[in-house]
Amino acid sequence: MNNIVVVGGGFFGLYLAEQLALKGNDVTIFEKSPLLMSRASYVNQARVHNGYHYPRSILTALRSRVSFPRFVSEFQDCIESDFQKYYLISGHLGKVTADQFKRFCGRIGADCEEAPAKVKQLVNPAMIDAVFTTTEFAFDSHKLRTIMLERLQVANVKIMLNTDVTQVMPAGNGLSVQVNSAGSVDEVFADHVFNCTYSRINYLLESSGIELIPLKHEMTEMCLVEVPDHLKKIGITVMCGPFFSVMPFPSTAWHSFSHVRYTPHYQWSDALGEDYQDSQKRYDEDERHSAWRYMIADAQRYIPSLSECQYQKSIWEVKTILPRSDSDDSRPILFKPNHGLRGLHCIMGGKIDNIYDALQEVERVIELS
Ligand SMILES: Cc1cc2nc3c(=O)[nH]c(=O)nc-3n(C[C@H](O)[C@H](O)[C@H](O)COP(=O)(O)OP(=O)(O)OC[C@H]3O[C@@H](n4cnc5c(N)ncnc54)[C@H](O)[C@@H]3O)c2cc1C
Repeated sequence: MNNIVVVGGGFFGLYLAEQLALKGNDVTIFEKSPLLMSRASYVNQARVHNGYHYPRSILTALRSRVSFPRFVSEFQDCIESDFQKYYLISGHLGKVTADQFKRFCGRIGADCEEAPAKVKQLVNPAMIDAVFTTTEFAFDSHKLRTIMLERLQVANVKIMLNTDVTQVMPAGNGLSVQVNSAGSVDEVFADHVFNCTYSRINYLLESSGIELIPLKHEMTEMCLVEVPDHLKKIGITVMCGPFFSVMPFPSTAWHSFSHVRYTPHYQWSDALGEDYQDSQKRYDEDERHSAWRYMIADAQRYIPSLSECQYQKSIWEVKTILPRSDSDDSRPILFKPNHGLRGLHCIMGGKIDNIYDALQEVERVIELS
């Protein structure tokens, strides 16, 4: 049996902790917030990816096709499928044509049919070339948290909230982990530490004197809106360029609204040899000015009745991706076993269902049972 510390109580930390505990390990999760899954695992578009979103990365699309049914079946109580998802193609600035998109769906084996006339009537034909009916769902992050909490209890995982992990150092055959809770600093010992802190992976590395992992961060705004009645059971994504997505956000009664051009407000990178900037500090100090009016002004050119959306609020998060995802929009996992220290492993998934790829890599590389 190993003593395992999981740093970060997002979906990745929770799922991994449960799986490691089920293998007979003694697992503790440390989460700096008062609530589990309150950061990127909540502040996102809630899309269970089924491949459509990645015509420029066939590998990400195919991995999504494999993970989608597994995630939907494992977490069926959290899945919102009671809406129809449409992918729209715009020749205006779009990077993919209708023909290419249809062929791409064929290649990855994803349903894609021409949408009915009543749906096509919603779009401005001068801006949209094609409308496809697809199969894509959304997940309810709050329900997912409740399910994971029950599962963690059954698996005997300990959870320490309001606890910031500030440093990891070598200690004998294992690791000494410094934890800070309400100003009181403690030390715990572990055979393995899993760094599942998403936008803050490098915070722990920096404070532990370990080489940073190159990552790119964006300060993102997800708008939550009430859509008009005729769009309530509809999700829409315009592909593939400076467009937008609007789809049900199941943990509220609203839709999430994101725009490729306006959702990211600014960006920065963690790069080797450059001063590190703590993403939590940037998040705390960010002056938030919503870009909603720009998003909706643009989107209603494609779907005029979107002008009837009632803006409710915005939720903000630092989105973290691998530098190479910038060019092809891919969402591979990051897995760095024994990074800088034997027993310290860094894990990040570019999307929720990547958890299965992450777990597979952990099981392949690290002996833990
Ligand atoms: C705007 C946006 C839209 C997205 N849309 C989608 C989508 O539609 N579908 C999809 O599948 N994915 C989407 N994603 C990606 C998805 O949100 C992430 O892949 C996933 O949530 C990452 O989970 P996580 O557990 O790694 O991170 P998080 O949920 O952020 O968890 C990390 C946790 O670590 C904690 N932490 C940080 N530092 C410390 C520390 N030192 N000590 C203790 N705790 C610490 C944080 O408080 C946090 O709770 C989106 C992301 C963003 C930002």
